[in-house]
Amino acid sequence: AAKREGRNCVHFFDPRDPQSIDETETIAATLRGALQNNLANMVYQPIVNLSTGKIEAYEALMRMKMFDGTPISPSRFIPIAEDTGMILPLGLWAIRRACIDLLLSDRTPMVSVNISRVQLKSPSFARSVSDLLAETGIDGRRLALEITEGLDLDGQADALRCLRELSELGIRIWLDDFGTGFAGLSWLRMFPFDTVKIDKSFLHDASSASGRKMLSDIVDLVHHRGARILIEGVEDASQLELARELGAHQVQGYHTGRPTPADLAPVMSGVAPGVAKDATKPALRQI
Ligand code: C2E
Ligand code: MG
Ligand code: MG
Ligand code: MG
Repeated sequence: AAKREGRNCVHFFDPRDPQSIDETETIAATLRGALQNNLANMVYQPIVNLSTGKIEAYEALMRMKMFDGTPISPSRFIPIAEDTGMILPLGLWAIRRACIDLLLSDRTPMVSVNISRVQLKSPSFARSVSDLLAETGIDGRRLALEITEGLDLDGQADALRCLRELSELGIRIWLDDFGTGFAGLSWLRMFPFDTVKIDKSFLHDASSASGRKMLSDIVDLVHHRGARILIEGVEDASQLELARELGAHQVQGYHTGRPTPADLAPVMSGVAPGVAKDATKPALRQI
């Protein structure tokens, strides 16, 4: 059975296994009742600017528990939410929750929220986000939406139109998990992303010389496209140092802060604990 990763709970998932089919049904039912029953929750992970050492944004990450309280990992429930269409209400709720939790209370200058390909293809999505901004009075420039490069090419025209509409609201568009799919380069060619998040696997493989060269080549490529560079998955001081040497603008990872509930996020951008001592050293590259 394929092992679906998840820190809170481990699932052994095999689509042919009747138990997994049952479990998929249970999760689908959970998702349908999630908003009415408070089963969904958002946590926030700091994104640190390497030139200032300050938290300049938080990434909003969804958490879900079943009716009996068991947590389900996003790698398990997001695909089911996409297949059932539940990602549309849940995804919009996530953006609203993040704006209310962090932006209305001025806990951070910016928040980034992941969005799914299903949302991007929905004709009403950009309009819903626009309504949400108008209703809360939030400046679109304080919101970033993260898309994953895995989007298939046939949906790309609709997706691009949607991204342009969102950009017109001032919203920044970030490309997430860069380097993990086949479509990453074509996305980079087609859309001017504000920030590209380099997938954590590249940093984690950078302990070898060839892995480090690979990461550095990807950083150069993104830099030449004119996007800001965020390196994900920084778990220790040496990885932070490497991100700095390579000229990343931002980092995110357990070393500079784990995802936390909104009330534990410091009000406005504090200096992140893991980077405070280097905060005077500027990042190598400025855009
Ligand atoms: P992502 O957008 O790439 O989010 C980063 C993931 O890496 C998060 O996992 C985070 O907890 C984890 N992470 C952060 N720092 C480190 C680190 O230093 N080391 C390691 N090994 N991992 C780290 P999480 O919360 O389990 O989310 C997994 C994925 O689920 C996300 O990947 C995103 O694609 C998706 N997801 C989460 N929330 C949402 C949501 O609200 N909407 C949508 N559409 N997708 C979501
Ligand atoms: Mg993300
Ligand atoms: Mg992602
Ligand atoms: Mg990512």
